[in-house]
Amino acid sequence: MSAPPSPSHPALHYPIEALPEHAHTVEVAPGVRWVRMRLPFALDHINLWLLDDGDRVVVIDCGYATADTRAAWEAVLAADGRPLSRIIVTHHHPDHIGLATWLAARDGAPIHMTQGEFFAAQAVWNQLPGYCIPDMLDQFRRHGLDDSRHDALATRGNAYRLGAPEVPARYHRLFAGDEVRIGAHDWRVIVGFGHAPEHASLYCAALGLLISGDMLLPRISTNVSVYAATPNDDPLGWFLRSLRDLCNIPDDTLVLPSHGKPFKGIRSRVDQLVEHHRERCEVLLAACHTPSTASELLPTLFHARSIPTRSCSQWGRPSPTSTTSRVREHCRGRSTRTA
Ligand SMILES: [Zn+2]
Repeated sequence: MSAPPSPSHPALHYPIEALPEHAHTVEVAPGVRWVRMRLPFALDHINLWLLDDGDRVVVIDCGYATADTRAAWEAVLAADGRPLSRIIVTHHHPDHIGLATWLAARDGAPIHMTQGEFFAAQAVWNQLPGYCIPDMLDQFRRHGLDDSRHDALATRGNAYRLGAPEVPARYHRLFAGDEVRIGAHDWRVIVGFGHAPEHASLYCAALGLLISGDMLLPRISTNVSVYAATPNDDPLGWFLRSLRDLCNIPDDTLVLPSHGKPFKGIRSRVDQLVEHHRERCEVLLAACHTPSTASELLPTLFHARSIPTRSCSQWGRPSPTSTTSRVREHCRGRSTRTA
């Protein structure tokens, strides 16, 4: 992501200098603390949030299920000393939901999430039709996946369970527009699309905070992919519409993202991301002067001669092939509408 800041809105800035040390917290607002856990990927960390809730504490997102993350949670929660009142999961990806069931069992705390994310977690974990590896491979084959990458993915198994060894069997359902009372403040649920089926962000007007999950990140662009269950979807279109919805939030709101540092400048960041995707669509359309598969277009979109097999699908989630597919679906829709 290298788009310049928008000239029409205040530039992005990062008002909090210090990163939390491992297994420690940094207060970002009264009663709201930042926890940073390690991830065993190129994207090497995730931000999680602890919110005061009277004599208890609420956890927002849970981390990827490693021994390191479990130990860090034990240290953080022991230092706090209060039991958990609730666990809120923004979406079903394993770095967010991974330890939810483990944390819930600790104090008998309920898990809150949207229905779309609950169902998606169940579908991927249980390898249901449309979300299982064979269906994903069929989709990638239709988009030109070569034999070596196909075979590597076929033999890898369900990587989702590595990061999420359990997923919730029951939950409290969150709806778009819900006001969730946590401690002395209300947090509004903002549902977004394109990254996950029904991603929940949380906005608190009184504190001037947006817990954006993966829907708005300061330095990297969010993964937006087509699932085998819905091969003709336009998740990029949904994602861009969801970004525009976030522009209704005051621009001086402090955004607490799942990756990267807390920042201010929602509109500048949305402008950057919209411009980034517009430019990528233009590049892709220009490359489509001859018929091409999504696989053949990977080097065009990702500026690489070859995409390593290991990056094809990190945890049973869509790969660059499906990312290319979603850009093509978006471009196709856009071309149709403007023709
Ligand atoms: Zn995610």
